[in-house]
Amino acid sequence: MTDKPQQNQKKLYIKTWGCQMNVYDSHRISDVLKPLGYALSDTPENADMIVLNTCHIREKATEKVFSELGRLKPHKEKRQAETGERTLLAVAGCVAQAEGDIITQRAPYVDLVFGPQTYHRLPEMVAKLTGARQKKRLIDTDFPVESKFDHLPEEHNSQGAAAFLSIQEGCDKFCTFCVVPYTRGAEYSRSVQSILDEAHKLVDHGAKEINVLGQNVNAYHGDGLDGKAADLPDLLSALSEINGLERLRYTTSHPRDMDDRLIQAHGDLGKLMPFLHLPIQSGSDKILDEMNRKHTSDHYREIIQKLKKVRPDLAMSSDIIVGFPGESDQDFEDTMTLIRDITFVSCYSFKYSARPGTPAASMQNLIREDVKSERLSRLQTLLSEQQYTYNKTFMGQTIPVLFDRKGKEGHKSAGFIQGRSEYNHAIHVKGNERLIGQIIDIHVTETRPSSLTGDVVTSEYDSSHLKVAQL
Ligand code: SF4
Repeated sequence: MTDKPQQNQKKLYIKTWGCQMNVYDSHRISDVLKPLGYALSDTPENADMIVLNTCHIREKATEKVFSELGRLKPHKEKRQAETGERTLLAVAGCVAQAEGDIITQRAPYVDLVFGPQTYHRLPEMVAKLTGARQKKRLIDTDFPVESKFDHLPEEHNSQGAAAFLSIQEGCDKFCTFCVVPYTRGAEYSRSVQSILDEAHKLVDHGAKEINVLGQNVNAYHGDGLDGKAADLPDLLSALSEINGLERLRYTTSHPRDMDDRLIQAHGDLGKLMPFLHLPIQSGSDKILDEMNRKHTSDHYREIIQKLKKVRPDLAMSSDIIVGFPGESDQDFEDTMTLIRDITFVSCYSFKYSARPGTPAASMQNLIREDVKSERLSRLQTLLSEQQYTYNKTFMGQTIPVLFDRKGKEGHKSAGFIQGRSEYNHAIHVKGNERLIGQIIDIHVTETRPSSLTGDVVTSEYDSSHLKVAQL
């Protein structure tokens, strides 16, 4: 995500941690700042403004932010000393929301702290920090009554061929381990019209795939085009009508909100990709209850069965926490059994660690670190085997791939172009950069545990005499 800074433009450097919601927010932060003359830069050197868009989900999130701030402080001081220019150093996102005061106490050189719900006010904040009567520091971590989406600029920086679009924020589920309901607030859904408007703009800027985002995306309930409430299947169906938009995905869902209409949408909507990320967290009903997940492992299995009925090739992914307080050997074995029963093609798995302020943080019966590590290692071995076994079934197949980027210079992906299959495989191909932004058939020539490699199939391809060419 880089603009080409022109003369007199100000340099904006954004570092993003965490989920796709944060990636989306970073894009929108740059959209908000663009009219003020800020253009994205790849490096913090000589930046006029640096934004750390933070995530509170992972362990030691706050410490990671402070160590990054420590690294950036010399950049700010050096620039001030050499040019007299002030670099605005800002902390945004969920750590800012949860720990704004602590940040300004421990790192008084930070100029601005703002939460995920207030970045539409950045022009005002920047004006206060850079205007005639410069403020030394600002904190804006309210949950404003008005929606930020009503105030974000219509103009978009291009996100490329695969774009994110935030449709829902906040969460009312209150899982006992999670900070999101506290950092992102109550559930809020945008109207169908405003989402369609943004989707059209993304497609105009080259998006062929849109992944609609929400902390609890399948709880989506926005105002529909007919004035009545619309749910996620209604919205996906409306998005499917957009010419030029070829692929749809949605992230992240909660099992409680996987109703029959949404399940049926996986059978009915051709543009909805056959890949679903549906967090389960544990296979033990006792632990699911302690987590306040509001569903059982059988409910989860039932959802998968229904989904596979309408979309037999659906690939499943999930989130799993190991070593939640009170997790017995049997609870952990229940999780392993569930994984064997379902078969996931990818999965995020973590050792439990307490988030300050959450109910689970004061729970007893903590699990020893060595026990958590041993369980996580067994679980990840099983998940990796499942993923690799699944990937190997694609060997020799021809599959459509949406290319959205080139490999990184100085990285093993250099010289390749990269994209995603319909099943969300990462795919690397030696091919011409002009293929980026297109959906092209690929012949899979190599399978690895977490990605595939292939060759571009020529236009003369026919299924009986496969012709393969490297463009
Ligand atoms: S549903 Fe997801 S976002 Fe909401 S509290 Fe639970 S884990 Fe957090």
